[in-house]
Amino acid sequence: MRHTPERIGEAPGSRCEECDHIKAAYYVASRHGDREAAAFWATEMGLHQRAAHS
Ligand SMILES: [Zn+2]
Repeated sequence: MRHTPERIGEAPGSRCEECDHIKAAYYVASRHGDREAAAFWATEMGLHQRAAHS
């Protein structure tokens, strides 16, 4: 069986503009103590990572 190496989604450094956008929003939310927003962005990040980086 042949294994084709693919992009590693979890590796640090594999991110895009959307990652930066979500990270920034998450950072702001958590800094302001907005747990709901922080949780929302954390979820968004997970979904985005799966959709775009896996
Ligand atoms: Zn991304």
